[in-house]
Amino acid sequence: QAKAEGRSRFSFFSEALTRNARNQLELETQMYQALENDELCVYLQPQTDIHSNSITGAEALVRWQHPEKGLLSPFSFIDLCEQNGQINRIGYQVLLKTCQQGKKWLDKGNPPLILAVNLSASQISDPELYNQVSDILQQTGFPAHHLELELTESALMSETESTITLLERFRSLGIHIAIDDFGTGYSSFSYLKRFPIDVLKIDKSFIDEIEHNARDREIVAAIIAMGHSLGIKVLAEGVEHENQLKILNEIGCDIYQGYLMSRPLPMEQFALLLDNTLAETEQFPS
Ligand code: C2E
Ligand code: MG
Ligand code: MG
Ligand code: MG
Repeated sequence: QAKAEGRSRFSFFSEALTRNARNQLELETQMYQALENDELCVYLQPQTDIHSNSITGAEALVRWQHPEKGLLSPFSFIDLCEQNGQINRIGYQVLLKTCQQGKKWLDKGNPPLILAVNLSASQISDPELYNQVSDILQQTGFPAHHLELELTESALMSETESTITLLERFRSLGIHIAIDDFGTGYSSFSYLKRFPIDVLKIDKSFIDEIEHNARDREIVAAIIAMGHSLGIKVLAEGVEHENQLKILNEIGCDIYQGYLMSRPLPMEQFALLLDNTLAETEQFPS
Protein backbone atom coordinates (compact mmCIF):
# COMPACT_ATOMS: atom_id res chain seq x y z
CA GLN A 1 0.00 0.00 0.00
CA ALA A 2 2.69 2.46 1.09
CA LYS A 3 4.81 1.45 -1.86
CA ALA A 4 1.99 2.01 -4.30
CA GLU A 5 1.30 5.39 -2.75
CA GLY A 6 4.94 6.32 -2.94
CA ARG A 7 5.04 5.32 -6.57
CA SER A 8 1.98 7.32 -7.52
CA ARG A 9 3.27 10.32 -5.63
CA PHE A 10 6.55 9.94 -7.46
CA SER A 11 4.84 9.82 -10.82
CA PHE A 12 2.79 12.85 -9.83
CA PHE A 13 5.95 14.86 -9.14
CA SER A 14 7.78 13.57 -12.17
CA GLU A 15 4.82 14.51 -14.36
CA ALA A 16 4.84 17.99 -12.87
CA LEU A 17 8.56 18.28 -13.49
CA THR A 18 8.22 17.13 -17.06
CA ARG A 19 5.37 19.53 -17.62
CA ASN A 20 7.44 22.38 -16.23
CA ALA A 21 10.45 21.45 -18.36
CA ARG A 22 8.20 21.22 -21.40
CA ASN A 23 6.73 24.66 -20.68
CA GLN A 24 10.21 26.12 -20.37
CA LEU A 25 11.29 24.54 -23.62
CA GLU A 26 8.15 25.76 -25.35
CA LEU A 27 8.70 29.30 -24.06
CA GLU A 28 12.31 29.19 -25.25
CA THR A 29 11.25 28.12 -28.76
CA GLN A 30 8.56 30.79 -28.84
CA MET A 31 11.12 33.41 -27.76
CA TYR A 32 13.25 32.54 -30.80
CA GLN A 33 10.21 33.28 -32.94
CA ALA A 34 9.45 36.41 -30.93
CA LEU A 35 12.93 37.74 -31.67
CA GLU A 36 12.48 36.96 -35.37
CA ASN A 37 8.92 38.30 -35.60
CA ASP A 38 9.52 41.46 -33.62
CA GLU A 39 7.09 40.56 -30.83
CA LEU A 40 9.05 42.38 -28.13
CA CYS A 41 8.16 45.95 -27.36
CA VAL A 42 9.49 48.63 -25.06
CA TYR A 43 7.42 50.44 -22.45
CA LEU A 44 8.71 53.62 -20.85
CA GLN A 45 8.24 54.72 -17.25
CA PRO A 46 8.98 58.38 -16.46
CA GLN A 47 11.69 59.47 -14.05
CA THR A 48 10.86 62.79 -12.45
CA ASP A 49 13.16 65.37 -10.93
CA ILE A 50 11.82 65.86 -7.41
CA HIS A 51 13.00 69.44 -7.12
CA SER A 52 11.54 70.82 -10.37
CA ASN A 53 8.78 68.20 -10.66
CA SER A 54 9.61 67.74 -14.34
CA ILE A 55 10.17 64.51 -16.25
CA THR A 56 13.88 64.27 -16.98
CA GLY A 57 14.13 60.69 -18.15
CA ALA A 58 12.52 57.29 -18.55
CA GLU A 59 13.34 53.65 -17.99
CA ALA A 60 12.86 51.22 -20.88
CA LEU A 61 11.06 48.05 -19.74
CA VAL A 62 10.58 45.12 -22.09
CA ARG A 63 7.20 43.49 -22.77
CA TRP A 64 6.40 40.48 -24.93
CA GLN A 65 3.34 40.70 -27.15
CA HIS A 66 2.80 36.92 -27.18
CA PRO A 67 0.61 35.72 -30.09
CA GLU A 68 -1.57 33.51 -27.81
CA LYS A 69 -0.92 34.63 -24.25
CA GLY A 70 -1.18 38.40 -24.77
CA LEU A 71 1.13 40.95 -23.21
CA LEU A 72 3.71 39.22 -20.97
CA SER A 73 5.62 40.87 -18.14
CA PRO A 74 9.39 40.43 -18.00
CA PHE A 75 8.97 38.40 -14.80
CA SER A 76 7.52 35.55 -16.87
CA PHE A 77 10.48 35.23 -19.23
CA ILE A 78 13.59 37.20 -18.15
CA ASP A 79 14.94 34.56 -15.72
CA LEU A 80 14.66 31.77 -18.27
CA CYS A 81 16.23 33.94 -20.97
CA GLU A 82 19.10 34.81 -18.65
CA GLN A 83 19.80 31.09 -18.18
CA ASN A 84 19.64 30.18 -21.85
CA GLY A 85 21.48 33.26 -23.17
CA GLN A 86 18.55 34.73 -25.11
CA ILE A 87 18.73 37.81 -22.87
CA ASN A 88 21.61 39.12 -24.96
CA ARG A 89 19.47 39.32 -28.09
CA ILE A 90 16.54 40.70 -26.10
CA GLY A 91 18.77 43.37 -24.59
CA TYR A 92 20.08 44.28 -28.03
CA GLN A 93 16.55 44.81 -29.39
CA VAL A 94 15.46 46.83 -26.35
CA LEU A 95 18.48 49.11 -26.66
CA LEU A 96 17.99 49.53 -30.42
CA LYS A 97 14.28 50.37 -30.12
CA THR A 98 14.94 52.78 -27.26
CA CYS A 99 17.69 54.67 -29.09
CA GLN A 100 15.64 54.82 -32.31
CA GLN A 101 12.70 56.35 -30.45
CA GLY A 102 14.92 58.70 -28.45
CA LYS A 103 16.48 60.00 -31.64
CA LYS A 104 13.06 60.60 -33.24
CA TRP A 105 11.93 62.65 -30.25
CA LEU A 106 15.12 64.70 -30.26
CA ASP A 107 14.67 65.39 -33.99
CA LYS A 108 11.10 66.55 -33.29
CA GLY A 109 12.52 69.12 -30.90
CA ASN A 110 11.32 67.49 -27.67
CA PRO A 111 13.23 68.48 -24.54
CA PRO A 112 16.12 66.05 -24.06
CA LEU A 113 15.47 63.02 -21.87
CA ILE A 114 17.82 60.47 -20.40
CA LEU A 115 16.67 57.01 -21.47
CA ALA A 116 17.72 54.16 -19.19
CA VAL A 117 18.09 50.57 -20.40
CA ASN A 118 18.58 47.49 -18.19
CA LEU A 119 21.60 45.26 -18.75
CA SER A 120 21.73 41.71 -17.41
CA ALA A 121 24.80 39.99 -15.95
CA SER A 122 25.12 37.83 -19.04
CA GLN A 123 25.29 40.90 -21.29
CA ILE A 124 28.01 42.43 -19.11
CA SER A 125 30.20 39.39 -19.61
CA ASP A 126 29.56 39.32 -23.38
CA PRO A 127 32.74 40.57 -25.09
CA GLU A 128 30.58 41.90 -27.95
CA LEU A 129 28.56 44.21 -25.70
CA TYR A 130 30.71 47.32 -26.00
CA ASN A 131 30.76 47.20 -29.80
CA GLN A 132 27.03 46.50 -29.95
CA VAL A 133 26.23 49.52 -27.79
CA SER A 134 28.52 51.88 -29.68
CA ASP A 135 27.24 50.54 -33.05
CA ILE A 136 23.64 51.18 -32.00
CA LEU A 137 24.49 54.73 -30.95
CA GLN A 138 26.23 55.37 -34.23
CA GLN A 139 23.58 53.71 -36.36
CA THR A 140 20.67 55.55 -34.68
CA GLY A 141 22.42 58.85 -34.05
CA PHE A 142 21.17 58.89 -30.46
CA PRO A 143 23.70 60.86 -28.38
CA ALA A 144 25.59 58.75 -25.84
CA HIS A 145 25.08 61.30 -23.07
CA HIS A 146 21.32 60.74 -23.31
CA LEU A 147 21.72 57.02 -22.62
CA GLU A 148 21.91 55.42 -19.18
CA LEU A 149 22.72 51.77 -18.55
CA GLU A 150 21.26 50.12 -15.43
CA LEU A 151 23.14 47.29 -13.76
CA THR A 152 22.23 45.43 -10.60
CA GLU A 153 24.65 44.83 -7.75
CA SER A 154 24.72 41.11 -8.49
CA ALA A 155 25.65 41.78 -12.12
CA LEU A 156 28.66 43.74 -10.86
CA MET A 157 29.87 41.03 -8.52
CA SER A 158 31.56 38.79 -11.07
CA GLU A 159 34.60 39.57 -13.22
CA THR A 160 35.27 42.81 -11.43
CA GLU A 161 38.35 44.08 -13.27
CA SER A 162 36.95 43.59 -16.75
CA THR A 163 33.65 45.08 -15.62
CA ILE A 164 35.34 48.23 -14.33
CA THR A 165 37.16 48.59 -17.64
CA LEU A 166 33.93 48.09 -19.58
CA LEU A 167 32.05 50.67 -17.52
CA GLU A 168 34.87 53.16 -17.87
CA ARG A 169 34.77 52.72 -21.65
CA PHE A 170 31.02 53.36 -21.65
CA ARG A 171 31.56 56.35 -19.41
CA SER A 172 34.15 57.84 -21.74
CA LEU A 173 31.58 57.71 -24.56
CA GLY A 174 29.34 59.83 -22.33
CA ILE A 175 26.96 57.06 -21.26
CA HIS A 176 25.58 57.27 -17.69
CA ILE A 177 25.81 54.30 -15.35
CA ALA A 178 23.08 53.51 -12.81
CA ILE A 179 22.99 50.87 -10.09
CA ASP A 180 19.56 49.23 -10.07
CA ASP A 181 17.75 47.79 -7.02
CA PHE A 182 20.37 49.34 -4.77
CA GLY A 183 20.43 47.86 -1.28
CA THR A 184 19.13 44.40 -2.19
CA GLY A 185 22.38 42.95 -3.47
CA TYR A 186 25.41 41.54 -1.76
CA SER A 187 28.40 43.86 -2.05
CA SER A 188 27.42 47.56 -1.77
CA PHE A 189 30.45 49.57 -0.54
CA SER A 190 33.57 48.33 -2.30
CA TYR A 191 32.16 48.91 -5.76
CA LEU A 192 30.95 52.40 -4.90
CA LYS A 193 34.63 53.07 -4.47
CA ARG A 194 35.75 51.24 -7.60
CA PHE A 195 33.03 51.58 -10.24
CA PRO A 196 32.23 54.79 -12.12
CA ILE A 197 28.62 55.42 -11.07
CA ASP A 198 26.27 58.31 -11.91
CA VAL A 199 23.00 57.20 -10.31
CA LEU A 200 21.92 54.98 -7.41
CA LYS A 201 18.40 53.60 -7.75
CA ILE A 202 17.17 52.75 -4.25
CA ASP A 203 15.09 49.59 -4.36
CA LYS A 204 11.34 49.83 -3.88
CA SER A 205 11.53 47.66 -0.74
CA PHE A 206 13.14 50.58 1.14
CA ILE A 207 10.56 53.04 -0.16
CA ASP A 208 7.40 51.00 0.55
CA GLU A 209 7.35 51.70 4.32
CA ILE A 210 9.17 55.02 4.31
CA GLU A 211 6.14 56.85 5.75
CA HIS A 212 5.77 54.55 8.78
CA ASN A 213 9.17 52.99 9.33
CA ALA A 214 11.82 55.28 10.81
CA ARG A 215 14.61 52.79 10.12
CA ASP A 216 13.82 52.69 6.40
CA ARG A 217 13.72 56.46 6.37
CA GLU A 218 17.14 56.64 8.06
CA ILE A 219 18.61 54.12 5.63
CA VAL A 220 17.31 56.03 2.63
CA ALA A 221 18.57 59.32 4.08
CA ALA A 222 21.99 57.75 4.63
CA ILE A 223 22.14 56.44 1.04
CA ILE A 224 21.22 59.90 -0.24
CA ALA A 225 23.90 61.59 1.90
CA MET A 226 26.53 59.06 0.86
CA GLY A 227 25.57 59.32 -2.82
CA HIS A 228 25.72 63.10 -2.77
CA SER A 229 29.10 63.19 -1.06
CA LEU A 230 30.38 60.95 -3.87
CA GLY A 231 28.81 63.12 -6.58
CA ILE A 232 26.17 60.48 -7.35
CA LYS A 233 22.48 61.23 -7.97
CA VAL A 234 19.93 59.22 -6.03
CA LEU A 235 16.64 57.94 -7.44
CA ALA A 236 13.82 56.31 -5.46
CA GLU A 237 12.10 53.35 -7.15
CA GLY A 238 8.48 52.32 -6.71
CA VAL A 239 7.03 55.56 -5.33
CA GLU A 240 3.26 55.09 -5.14
CA HIS A 241 2.00 57.69 -2.66
CA GLU A 242 2.17 61.45 -2.33
CA ASN A 243 3.38 61.10 1.30
CA GLN A 244 6.37 59.02 0.22
CA LEU A 245 7.32 61.72 -2.25
CA LYS A 246 6.97 64.40 0.42
CA ILE A 247 9.43 62.56 2.69
CA LEU A 248 11.84 61.92 -0.18
CA ASN A 249 11.76 65.61 -0.98
CA GLU A 250 12.49 66.48 2.66
CA ILE A 251 15.51 64.18 2.85
CA GLY A 252 16.95 65.48 -0.43
CA CYS A 253 16.31 62.64 -2.90
CA ASP A 254 16.93 63.80 -6.50
CA ILE A 255 14.65 61.75 -8.74
CA TYR A 256 11.68 59.41 -8.36
CA GLN A 257 10.09 56.72 -10.45
CA GLY A 258 6.83 54.96 -9.65
CA TYR A 259 3.12 54.54 -10.19
CA LEU A 260 2.50 57.88 -8.45
CA MET A 261 3.77 59.61 -11.60
CA SER A 262 2.88 56.85 -14.05
CA ARG A 263 3.05 53.14 -14.77
CA PRO A 264 5.31 52.09 -17.62
CA LEU A 265 3.56 53.17 -20.85
CA PRO A 266 3.71 52.18 -24.51
CA MET A 267 5.90 54.68 -26.34
CA GLU A 268 3.06 56.63 -27.98
CA GLN A 269 1.29 57.03 -24.64
CA PHE A 270 4.51 58.10 -22.98
CA ALA A 271 4.85 60.81 -25.63
CA LEU A 272 1.32 62.02 -24.86
CA LEU A 273 2.12 62.17 -21.14
CA LEU A 274 5.20 64.24 -21.94
CA ASP A 275 3.21 66.65 -24.12
CA ASN A 276 0.60 67.06 -21.37
CA THR A 277 3.08 67.73 -18.58
CA LEU A 278 4.95 70.20 -20.80
CA ALA A 279 1.71 72.02 -21.60
CA GLU A 280 0.97 72.21 -17.87
CA THR A 281 4.29 73.80 -16.98
CA GLU A 282 3.92 76.28 -19.84
CA GLN A 283 0.50 77.23 -18.56
CA PHE A 284 1.69 77.68 -15.00
CA PRO A 285 5.29 78.84 -15.16
CA SER A 286 7.03 78.36 -11.84
P1 C2E B 1 13.61 46.98 -12.60
O1 C2E B 1 14.65 47.26 -13.59
O2 C2E B 1 13.93 47.20 -11.17
O3 C2E B 1 12.33 47.84 -13.06
C1 C2E B 1 11.40 48.39 -12.18
C2 C2E B 1 10.17 47.50 -12.07
O4 C2E B 1 9.33 48.04 -11.06
C3 C2E B 1 9.32 47.49 -13.34
O5 C2E B 1 8.70 46.20 -13.44
C4 C2E B 1 8.27 48.55 -13.03
O6 C2E B 1 7.07 48.38 -13.76
C5 C2E B 1 8.04 48.30 -11.57
N1 C2E B 1 7.53 49.49 -10.91
C6 C2E B 1 7.84 50.79 -11.15
N2 C2E B 1 7.19 51.61 -10.32
C7 C2E B 1 6.43 50.82 -9.52
C8 C2E B 1 5.51 51.10 -8.44
O7 C2E B 1 5.27 52.24 -8.06
N3 C2E B 1 4.92 50.01 -7.85
C9 C2E B 1 5.17 48.74 -8.25
N4 C2E B 1 4.54 47.75 -7.63
N5 C2E B 1 6.02 48.45 -9.27
C10 C2E B 1 6.64 49.48 -9.88
P2 C2E B 1 8.69 45.38 -14.82
O8 C2E B 1 8.53 46.28 -15.97
O9 C2E B 1 7.71 44.26 -14.63
O10 C2E B 1 10.15 44.80 -14.87
C11 C2E B 1 10.59 43.89 -13.90
C12 C2E B 1 12.07 43.64 -14.00
O11 C2E B 1 12.38 42.95 -15.21
C13 C2E B 1 12.93 44.91 -14.04
O12 C2E B 1 13.12 45.43 -12.74
C14 C2E B 1 14.20 44.38 -14.65
O13 C2E B 1 14.98 43.73 -13.66
C15 C2E B 1 13.67 43.33 -15.62
N6 C2E B 1 13.64 43.91 -16.97
C16 C2E B 1 12.68 44.63 -17.58
N7 C2E B 1 13.04 44.97 -18.82
C17 C2E B 1 14.29 44.47 -19.02
C18 C2E B 1 15.24 44.49 -20.12
O14 C2E B 1 15.01 45.09 -21.19
N8 C2E B 1 16.42 43.83 -19.92
C19 C2E B 1 16.70 43.20 -18.74
N9 C2E B 1 17.92 42.58 -18.63
N10 C2E B 1 15.87 43.16 -17.70
C20 C2E B 1 14.67 43.79 -17.83
MG1 MG C 1 15.87 48.80 -13.95
MG1 MG D 1 14.98 48.42 -10.10
MG1 MG E 1 13.55 45.78 -9.33
